Amino acid sequence: MAFFKNIPFGADSCGMVHYCGMRRGAYERVKAVMAEFFDQETGLILSVLREAAMLAVAVREESALFTVEKSDLSPVTVADFAIQALVSRRLGDVFPDAVLVAEEDASSLRAPDGCDMLEVITSFVSRFIPGATGGAVCDWIDQGAASEGGALFWTLDPIDGTKGYRRGGQYAVALAQIEDGHVIRGGLACPALGAGELPAFAGTGLVAAAKRGAGAWLFPLSSAADPSSAAALHVNGCSDPSKARMLRSFEAGHTDVSALEQLADALNLRPEANVLMDSQAKFAVLASGGAEFIFRLLSPERPGYKEYIWDQAAGSLVVEEAGGRVTDLKGDRLDFSQGRRLLKNTGVVASNGVLHDAALAALQMLPSL
Ligand code: AMP
Ligand code: MG
Repeated sequence: MAFFKNIPFGADSCGMVHYCGMRRGAYERVKAVMAEFFDQETGLILSVLREAAMLAVAVREESALFTVEKSDLSPVTVADFAIQALVSRRLGDVFPDAVLVAEEDASSLRAPDGCDMLEVITSFVSRFIPGATGGAVCDWIDQGAASEGGALFWTLDPIDGTKGYRRGGQYAVALAQIEDGHVIRGGLACPALGAGELPAFAGTGLVAAAKRGAGAWLFPLSSAADPSSAAALHVNGCSDPSKARMLRSFEAGHTDVSALEQLADALNLRPEANVLMDSQAKFAVLASGGAEFIFRLLSPERPGYKEYIWDQAAGSLVVEEAGGRVTDLKGDRLDFSQGRRLLKNTGVVASNGVLHDAALAALQMLPSL
């Protein structure tokens, strides 16, 4: 296999390992794991995420940020719909029996006042699927709209962090495959993530992808699906909470800001250790050693909130396969067998693994939990 031909040299401070600097034994072991990683499903994840990211960037650059509000008042853009249509169609081409559980549905586009937006969406989808019609686009979107999953299914967030996407912050396209309630493959395309957040990463735009038992891997967006551009993702080994960094939602309304402050105090974090970031891009940063904690606490305005599976599936596997740990706020594993939401879990905590028990202990001390 033509793996690793153009790989930059050495291991870096971010925990990423490139292959050319390795001793022969280590090189052979990594090569074997990477061969294990590549299969038809991971190949599809990488190639479709690259296309989806190109579509998201095109919509932003061409100022086509047409937005409507959903019934829960959250925004949805041309890119959310177009990416769901594109991924659904690509998935169906390769795996005709695949079940998709995805965030959006086409009901607003099928209504008479949705036709202007549908026209714009269809024009973007046609760049990737020539001849796509509005009717077909709605059908592809709705392939992911109603399903609750089952024993083996896929889940998609076409634009995770839509508010970040519109604001010019972080966002991710998140696709994962779930078997018997466990995430088995997953990928995140993060077009706005780059050297600013991952100092060891040259350029902007990356895909982080993982397969259970076969590691987590980082690809530049421009060459995602090319094994020779991959770097292994590893969390860092920081064991001192006072040196740790905490990633949390940019949107105050998605979390509990005052409880996060108490948590930071309980863990003895430095004030500058608090990093606000939209979307599952946070998981890619943690998996690459760029931070130690992610906390999703419940917003006081949404007591009893249960996370959507597509908001956690791909990111949680990327962190676990990079050596980290992901649980709910009580320390239980995330259970993806409960339909469209994580009904058996409350909140999420992800860490580099070493510091996970410290995170759970600090959470227990919060009066609000
Ligand atoms: P983040 O950018 O990490 O805040 O996560 C974005 C995701 O949070 C969105 O995709 C929504 O599904 C989800 N979300 C929206 N409202 C809330 C809320 N009140 N509490 C928790 N998550 C939310
Ligand atoms: Mg989302």
